[in-house]
Amino acid sequence: MAEVERERMEYDVVVVGAGPAGLAAAIRLKQLAAAAGSELGVCVIEKGSEVGAHILSGAVFEPRALNELLPDWRERGAPLNTPAVEDRFLYLTANRALRLPTPPQMHNHGNYIISLGNLCRWLAKEAEELGVEIYPGFAAAEVLYDEDGRVRGVATGDMGIGRDGEPTERYTPGVELIARETLFAEGCRGSLTKTLIERFGLREGTDPQTYAIGVKELWEVAPEHHQPGLVVHTIGWPLDKGTYGGSFLYHLEDRQVAVGFVIGLDYKNPFLSPFEEFQRFKTHPAIRDFFAGGRRISYGARALNEGGFQSIPRLDFPGGALVGCAAGFINVPKIKGSHTAMKSGMVAAETVFARLGGDANATVRDALQRSWIWDELYRVRNIRPSFRLGLWGGLLYSALDTYVLRGRAPWTLHHHPDHTQLIPASEAPRIQYPRPDGQISFDRLSSVFISNTNHEEDQPPHLRLRDPAKAIAINYRLYDSPEQRYCPAGVYEIVEEAGTGEKRLQINAQNCVHCKTCDIKDPEQNIDWVVPEGGGGPNYPNM
Ligand SMILES: Cc1cc2nc3c(=O)[nH]c(=O)nc-3n(C[C@H](O)[C@H](O)[C@H](O)COP(=O)(O)OP(=O)(O)OC[C@H]3O[C@@H](n4cnc5c(N)ncnc54)[C@H](O)[C@@H]3O)c2cc1C
Ligand code: SF4
Repeated sequence: MAEVERERMEYDVVVVGAGPAGLAAAIRLKQLAAAAGSELGVCVIEKGSEVGAHILSGAVFEPRALNELLPDWRERGAPLNTPAVEDRFLYLTANRALRLPTPPQMHNHGNYIISLGNLCRWLAKEAEELGVEIYPGFAAAEVLYDEDGRVRGVATGDMGIGRDGEPTERYTPGVELIARETLFAEGCRGSLTKTLIERFGLREGTDPQTYAIGVKELWEVAPEHHQPGLVVHTIGWPLDKGTYGGSFLYHLEDRQVAVGFVIGLDYKNPFLSPFEEFQRFKTHPAIRDFFAGGRRISYGARALNEGGFQSIPRLDFPGGALVGCAAGFINVPKIKGSHTAMKSGMVAAETVFARLGGDANATVRDALQRSWIWDELYRVRNIRPSFRLGLWGGLLYSALDTYVLRGRAPWTLHHHPDHTQLIPASEAPRIQYPRPDGQISFDRLSSVFISNTNHEEDQPPHLRLRDPAKAIAINYRLYDSPEQRYCPAGVYEIVEEAGTGEKRLQINAQNCVHCKTCDIKDPEQNIDWVVPEGGGGPNYPNM
């Protein structure tokens, strides 16, 4: 294909990703410029068809960072409509629910039950009023470097490249967004962030990042089952004691209930299916009544970081920095990361603004170490890794760490990478999941349907196998192709070739909801998730 000149746009700062981190960064940059009486060109690009389309969270929202960013958010109409009023923490057995004392980190007084997608839509409006340019439907596909190896911006992907790699009649070349500083706010397991971490060795000296997958549905429930402000978390059934995870059930406004299940991606059994564990969970006698007479509105899934303090990478590199879940600031015991994502975006904005003003030594890492994020994450750093001791061992250790040691233990527990944790299928017990009833539990394809996922069909695959032969030689033979089960969208299927009966991995990329689990959990790290054409992916209404 002949080289085509790409259009070029120049800014002071380009932000990749319109999540809470990226939008908070953009707003803070404009506030700082206004206060200094200077002009600053700030642009945000977002791969979703609109801001919020790819945002999936719980979410109970702690407003600490928002209070600092836009203290008059109430008057400005931020969609924080449902204060959290009651916390319940349950331990489930197959038939019973036992109420446990709510751990202090999970007290939600002062927090709000929200749709994070809607909060992002509102933040985007605030950012635009301050003069930030926001371009949804544009995926950053490539990091641009100058001859000294400094990041000088990103390029959006070409549109209209066919499956065979050749331009079609829809062809439009990507755009180069050139910036003095580029902030990567791609969220958990960002595809460009992954390449930056590798290129600049940003993980040297830190623990590996660890992850979980969260599968979520939004329901409209019958009025008699709706308790706005109720927050329920469960542990135990249907997971075995060695698998980390649990559920959330948050009652929002307008008879809506967000229900989801989160499972640590360090799980061992290749037969485990996070999707089916979630479906099974909803049928528990203490849970299913919430949904009787209700209607499922939406479905989706997303990976989240669990590494916490010891997995924070180096954040700065020449020409930019990582912010939010692209780096990983989730407070796991709190099950919250939007407040820290926003705060890290704000701190990065302040640092970058100082750098642009001539303070070449300012680093995001130093600034973050001075912020409340550092102390918050330091105190809880040992809780998630302690669950290596199993459910009861982890709960006991966590109680000791919280109440006696108060997060100041003279040791730090370490993490192992999730992709090394699977045991061979021959050593693992098979798990029989019940058939969905179509009322409370559902199958994958009808679920993906209500995620409104859409990709241009004629485009190169955005799920790339580094070595296609490993799909059968290793994944299938050793682990019975776990991607068939951990993918929450049914993208990966083992099919038999007609005639020969040979097994082959079929990738239904158009179903992908961009959760990034395959990029994380593949035992050989053989799957690379790269951005599809901008605008492709789920279209979540208010997840
Ligand atoms: C199931 C689940 C439940 C959760 N519950 C809670 C909760 O109750 N409370 C809480 O505080 N936190 C919760 N979290 C965590 C919280 O959602 C995250 O910490 C937060 O969303 C991180 O914000 P972010 O801006 O860093 O990334 P994200 O919210 O992931 O946003 C990143 C944005 O960047 C875009 N993007 C990515 N790559 C590109 C690219 N190359 N080009 C253009 N755009 C790109 C994405 O489409 C997305 O819009 C939960 C997370 C999950 C998955
Ligand atoms: S293909 Fe990968 S990123 Fe897409 S939905 Fe499946 S596991 Fe998630």
